[in-house]
Amino acid sequence: MGTEQWLAGIDIGGTTVKLSFITEDGAILEKWEIPTNTDQGGVMVVQDISKSIQEKLSTLGKSIDQLGAAGVGAPGFLEMETGFVYEAINIGWKDFALKEELEKQLGIPVSVDNDANIAALGEMWQGAGDGARDVLFITLGTGVGGGVISNGQILHGANGMAGELGHITSIPEGGRPCNCGKTGCLETVSSATGIVQLALEFLPQHPESSLKAFEQEGTLSARAVIEQADAGDACATAVVEKSMYYLGFAIANLANTLNPSRIVIGGGVSKGGQTLLNPLNDTYSKFVLKRVKEAADIKIAELGNDAGIVGAAWIAKEAKRKA
Ligand SMILES: [Zn+2]
Repeated sequence: MGTEQWLAGIDIGGTTVKLSFITEDGAILEKWEIPTNTDQGGVMVVQDISKSIQEKLSTLGKSIDQLGAAGVGAPGFLEMETGFVYEAINIGWKDFALKEELEKQLGIPVSVDNDANIAALGEMWQGAGDGARDVLFITLGTGVGGGVISNGQILHGANGMAGELGHITSIPEGGRPCNCGKTGCLETVSSATGIVQLALEFLPQHPESSLKAFEQEGTLSARAVIEQADAGDACATAVVEKSMYYLGFAIANLANTLNPSRIVIGGGVSKGGQTLLNPLNDTYSKFVLKRVKEAADIKIAELGNDAGIVGAAWIAKEAKRKA
C-alpha cells in the first residue's frame, strides 16, 4: 500500500552529521551527510538537521508525514529519557535540550542516546551482533566507546554512565592523562590516539623501525602502525601487541561479568582486522573463563559507518512501539 512510515536515523559526530531514512525492517532507503556546524557552541546543528531532512523529503516528493519517528545518537554525556545533553565537548553543547529542540523543529517524536550505544544497537539489529540479545560492543576510534546490551536493552545505569568502557583503568599508576580527567584509562592505550602515543614511547628503543620515517614526516597514525605491524616491523608489532593486551584484559573482565553471546569491535581502528584480532584473542583467551569464552568470540563490526544511523532508527522504532 506504500503507507508504511519511515524512521529517520541521525548520527551526530564532531565533524559530520549522518542522516538516513530507514524502514521498520532496518533497510536503508536514503543516507547522506551534512557538516557539523560547531560555531557558537553548536547552536545551528539542530536547525541544520531539520532543514536537511525537510529538503530531502521534498526532493523525494514526500512530506514530514512520511516519517513516523526519529532517533538520534550524540556524543558526550547525556540522559536518554529526556534527551538532555549535559556536555558534548566535540559539538560545544552544554546543558542542551536536544530531544526537545529537535522535536520542536521536526514535529515528530525524537529519541536520543549516546553515539556508542546506538552503534551497538545498530550492530545488534543488522550487523555482527546478528540479532543476539547480549552484546558487548567496543568502538576504537579517536577515543574508546562502548555499549552493553543485556537482554536486548542498552544498559544505562543509575545516571546514564553505563558502558563508558574507554575509562576503565588499565594502568593504575603512572598512566597518561585522559580527556576525562583521570589517568591510565583504556582510551589512553587502545584508541587511535593511544596507539600513536604508545608508538612514540616505543620508538626510542627501536631506531631501526619503519615507523621512524612516519614520525619524522609527522604522519604517524594508528593506521600506519597497524600497516607496519602487518608488514613485519618489530616496533609496530610490539605496539599493537601492547595496545591489544590492555584491550583483551579489559574485555575478558567485562565478559566474565556480563557473559555476552557476542563481542563486537567497531570504529575506525577495527579496520585493522586480523592484525588486531590475533593478539587481542591471545589476551582475551588468557583471562576469560572457559565457559564464558564458549559463549562469545570477538568479532569485527560489519556495518562500519552505518552502525550509528541504523541504531538510531532502532531506538526510534522501539520508542514508537512502546508509545
Ligand atoms: Zn578516561
